[in-house]
Amino acid sequence: MKETIEQDTVASVHYTGTFVDGEVFDSSEGRDPLVFLVGHGQMISGFEQEILGASVGEKREFTLTPDRAYGERDEDAVQQIEKSQFPEDMDLQVGMVVGAHSDQGPIQFTIKEINEDIVTADFNHQMAGMTLRFNVEVIEVRPASEEELAHGHAHGPGGHHH
Ligand code: ZN
Repeated sequence: MKETIEQDTVASVHYTGTFVDGEVFDSSEGRDPLVFLVGHGQMISGFEQEILGASVGEKREFTLTPDRAYGERDEDAVQQIEKSQFPEDMDLQVGMVVGAHSDQGPIQFTIKEINEDIVTADFNHQMAGMTLRFNVEVIEVRPASEEELAHGHAHGPGGHHH
């Protein structure tokens, strides 16, 4: 039986992601394949949906609109923060991605603008609102272990190491 990508399998894939203008934003080329547990939210949902049923050696090419990738942009997620809320020694720069802790866990935002006392922070995912194209080649598929299913991520080479 040929191994195919299904719910609760661990897939290794090579991939290249491009914007609609052809610019590559991410690729596994020259690196180890990307390894992930299928169906547990490790990948954006559209990516998983498009490669379900693919066999080892198979190549797939697909386009994801924002609703199936990182979501639409939400202008309410652009907020103004008092500069005094940032650590004094922090070298704030426009375009910088800042990680922070909130009551809801880790968050990150991009600095859009810096004025005298106010920093404009964009909490949208950097890829929000973008249509993404992917070229994917399936390298390996194996069933997930009990432990991987319990943890919700792949272990071993290319996966999590605890
Ligand atoms: Zn684990």
